[in-house]
Amino acid sequence: MSGCVFCKIVAGEIPSTKLYEDEECLAFRDIDPKAPVHFLVVPKRHIGNLMELGLEDDALMGRLMRRAQETARGEGLGEKGARFVVNCKSDGGQTVDHLHIHVLGGRAMKWPPG
Ligand code: 5GP
Ligand code: ZN
Repeated sequence: MSGCVFCKIVAGEIPSTKLYEDEECLAFRDIDPKAPVHFLVVPKRHIGNLMELGLEDDALMGRLMRRAQETARGEGLGEKGARFVVNCKSDGGQTVDHLHIHVLGGRAMKWPPG
């Protein structure tokens, strides 16, 4: 989708530090990390947000969560865990309108979020 920052990252038009890539997903470090480890997992296909997911996306979403888990393990988060977050639309605090899973780790997270 033209103008979408994460589509541009997927296309290589904006550089990123990639942690994992396959034919349908990409994991890369967040440019403004909120924890010692902070990366994003995105589908390569443009999906605006979680509310846009359809039944046909169930398997894709499962695989994205699996990739998030595996990449988190690779970043050393397997033992202590991490925060896996999907911000959705305005009340969810979403600022980039391309579905993404945040993975934050390397420190203890607080609850509830602001
Ligand atoms: P949201 O607020 O939509 O849940 O999260 C968007 C995230 O994308 C933010 O944490 C922000 O730092 C990150 N981000 C925005 N633009 C870029 C970029 O150009 N490169 C990378 N690596 N991360 C970005
Ligand atoms: Zn996009």
